[in-house]
This record gives sequence, structure tokens and C-alpha cells, in this order.
Amino acid sequence: MNTNISPAIKIEKTKQSKINDIDFNNLPFGQELTDHMFVCDFKNGKWQQPQIVPYQNLSLDPSSKIFHYGQSVFEGMKAYKDEDDNILLFRPLENQKRINISAKRLAIPEFPEDYFMEGLKTLLKLEKDWIPTTEGSSLYIRPFVFATGNGFHASPSDEYKFIIACSPSGAYFGGKVKVLIEQKYSRSANGGVGYAKAGGNYAGQFYPTQLAVDKGYQQVIWTDDTSHKYIEEAGAMNIFMRINDTLITAPTSERILDGITRKSLIEIAKDEGINIEVRKITVDELTNAAENGTLKEMFGAGTAAVISPIAGFGYQDKDYDLPVLEDTFAARLKKRITDIQYNRSEDKFGWRVVVK
Ligand SMILES: *Cc1c(COP(=O)(O)O)cnc(C)c1O
Repeated sequence: MNTNISPAIKIEKTKQSKINDIDFNNLPFGQELTDHMFVCDFKNGKWQQPQIVPYQNLSLDPSSKIFHYGQSVFEGMKAYKDEDDNILLFRPLENQKRINISAKRLAIPEFPEDYFMEGLKTLLKLEKDWIPTTEGSSLYIRPFVFATGNGFHASPSDEYKFIIACSPSGAYFGGKVKVLIEQKYSRSANGGVGYAKAGGNYAGQFYPTQLAVDKGYQQVIWTDDTSHKYIEEAGAMNIFMRINDTLITAPTSERILDGITRKSLIEIAKDEGINIEVRKITVDELTNAAENGTLKEMFGAGTAAVISPIAGFGYQDKDYDLPVLEDTFAARLKKRITDIQYNRSEDKFGWRVVVK
């Protein structure tokens, strides 16, 4: 399906822009939506005419399969604006590829690459004025696809809707978080859908996360589902740990999402001369390192927050605090990656894409 040439996108512009109602100096994350959205329907075995329409409610039959069987996958990406008013994307083809990897696992038809890239770029050019420029802000982009076919029969839908919606957003999260190492619940399991960005993976995380919040933590560290011995992810982010001067991150697997931030940080760390190990790490190794003072840093990595530093963790009714350092790998790596994203530095990796 990748060989399809995308038909011209049909554009219907809004009659009344909402942009003047938005306080660009006070943006929450992902709450305000822009004027337009990209929409493409899958029917009769193929993707139909792609369109850009005013952002609006959808009308769906209550028997739509999305409501009952959860066929839904999504992506999260960002557009940035540099000082010369260029619209920039960061490794967008990785998101395009990944939504189809996710879709395949949920028996959703692949969305063609040129539809995705053309739709995204056309929408961004139309929404250019919505890309915020204050420090740490960006236009958060949410491509998603879900089952719209009707009927209670438990089978894959024969109709789908692909949408790209955009939200001008401030920095995702401020302070350091306290996390709880999960010993009962799992985010994903072998043979499951953990590597896919499926909506249901998030639904399954909310309850255990709420239990952790009730105990005074902000986030859960997921461990492997069979033994709960290995560190896997930090909430919906990949996880990095620094022991002495070595940075460690778990290898991706069928249970761990292959994050674009994670793999970019691995490259940047290598380039910075930081010793980086992609390997399994046990909770025991982590607690030992915390006890003997060699655990220096932990942080989550993902598109929304970029890097989210961890202040300490709880494990088996004991709390471990991390030291407060002057110079952190987290700050160094965050500066490197955001400088590339916002076009404040050279991009030796070729990750930045200018939308023309
Ligand atoms: C989206 C996501 C990440 C981060 O991926 P990025 O491509 O870096 O945004 C990590 N873990 C999970 C479970 C995710 O859903």
C-alpha cells in the first residue's frame, strides 16, 4: 500500500478561527485544539479521499467496534518553530513507521506513508500560527486511527478513521517525580501488545498508577510481567539509569515500546562520550546502587516531556532518594536533543525535517 500516490487533499477551512481565544503564554499540555484536523476513512477495502476539515465532533454509531473491542492506536509527535519561522519536525518517518507497526498488531490496515506525510505537512502549514514559540512549548501532534465499523460481532472492523489533530502545548511536566517500582501489576506481557502504541495499554496503566498516587508517588516503574525483577519502563516513558558514570537503559522487546526519544538519546549519549549500556537491569542492582551511593540519576524519556527526572523511588515499603547533582546527564542530553529539535544547533544526525 506504500506505493500509492496520495490524491490531492481536499481542504475545507474554518470560517471562524479560535486562535485569538488562546493564551499562548499559559498553555497547558494537550488541552487546546487547533482549528483544523486531517481525516481519512478506510472503507470498501481502501483508504478514501484524505481531507482537512474544521476541528469538530464526530458522530459514531454506538455499536462502532472501537467502543467494544478497543481497536485503536496512536502516535505522539511535535512540531517546532525556529527563529526564522520555519516549521520543524523531529524524525517524523519514525512515527509514520511505528503507527503501522502498532496498527498491524491490532489488525488495523496500514496507513500509506505518503498519505501520512502529506497530510501532516499540509495540516501544519495551515496551522502554522498555532505553533507556540515560548521556551519548552511546541505544537503537540496526535495521529490516531480507530475502528468505526458497526456491530457487536467480535471481529476486526472493516471501517476505520485516521485523524491527525494538533494541540499547542506548554512544557509537559515541571518537577522531579517520585516513582514506585511495581511488583503486582504489569503494563505488558510476552506475546501481548506492549510494543504497540495502543490506546488500551494506557487504560490498563491508569488503575495501578492511581494506587501508586494514593501512596504518595507520581508514577509507576514497570517491571517484567513474569518475575517483576527487571526494570522496563517509567510510566509511558522509556527509562534511563545512571550508575557511577554509566548510563543504562533496558533493551526494547515485545513488552517495551521502541521510543524515538530513547533511541535518539542513546545516539546523543554515544556522541557525548557517555558510556552507555543497553542491557537488562534488575531491581536488586538498582536498590544496591542506591544504597551504596553509586546510583546518580534516573529519568524517563518520551516525546511529551522529553526527559523527566526522577527524585527517588519506592520498593517493598522502602524509599530510596537520589542525590541532587549540579551537572546531570539528564540536563546535558535534554539540551542536546532540544537544541536539535528547535534548530538551535547543528543536526549531525539528520533528524530534523523542515516542513516546506
Ligand atoms: C510513546 C511511549 C514512549 C515514548 O516514545 P517516544 O517515541 O519517545 O515518544 C515510551 N513508552 C511508552 C509505553 C509509550 O507509549
